[in-house]
Amino acid sequence: MRVVEKAAELERLRLELPVPVGLVPTMGCLHEGHLSLVRQARDDNNSLVISIFVNPTQFGPGEDYASYPRDEARDLTLLEKEGVDIVFLPSATEIYPPGFDSYVEVAGLSRRLEGASRPGHFRGVATVVARLFDLVRPGKAYFGQKDAQQAIIISSIAADLYPGVEVITLPTVREADGMAMSSRNSYLSPDERRAAAVLYRALSRARELWQEGEGSASNLRWEMTAVLRKEPLAVVDYVSVADPATLEEMETASSPALVSLAVKIGATRLIDNILL
Ligand code: AMP
Repeated sequence: MRVVEKAAELERLRLELPVPVGLVPTMGCLHEGHLSLVRQARDDNNSLVISIFVNPTQFGPGEDYASYPRDEARDLTLLEKEGVDIVFLPSATEIYPPGFDSYVEVAGLSRRLEGASRPGHFRGVATVVARLFDLVRPGKAYFGQKDAQQAIIISSIAADLYPGVEVITLPTVREADGMAMSSRNSYLSPDERRAAAVLYRALSRARELWQEGEGSASNLRWEMTAVLRKEPLAVVDYVSVADPATLEEMETASSPALVSLAVKIGATRLIDNILL
């Protein structure tokens, strides 16, 4: 496994990799959710590149860029066991050299849901993913359903700008109580961690009602909000039942529907979703 910090070196090593090359972009502090992507990418490709980069442009002012958990030594030990060829671990100036002032933006999809709560977030995500696609030129790139809107936006970028890259979205890996694995879960105190299970309970309630025939999206949003309100530590940012193609809110929850939510538990903002 080669650990590469320089973009130029990555481009050079890439020429020697047997194709197809799989890419898994991450921000590190790896957990089983990340590793599920790594394992699928290993199975599907002849070479595997993992990036670990806490991308400053996708964090807004006052967000957790400085405190985002980082543990490169542990990440490298985990990746060594997974048969990774290259770990790309760039500095911020390697990705954004002085004077860098060009951005990629998926206009409509970026403004909804997470984009409405975190202006500029998806511009940062789209730009770093484009930089990685250009450097690695993967045949397939792997993303988690956990960040559903991100996966939808990246699929749209690939369709428009990188037709040679197949974007693969894999299911959310969860803890025993249903809580989606996330590097940010490490911010939670034991009480907050217990309270955070309410996100998946709310999503599960929506699925249950929908399976029983509840078709009104506003009723589903109302029922999820009611579940969340019972948890005193939870502060709801949004609850959504949207068309996964357009991310527009639905009136009738027809399949497929993306049911998603963003909730603050203490100081930690958490997101989760399911597809109906
Ligand atoms: P991050 O390091 O949080 O930027 O995540 C890197 C990739 O792992 C993204 O494509 C995420 O959607 C994906 N991911 C994060 N958490 C999970 C999870 N619990 N299950 C599946 N994929 C995940």
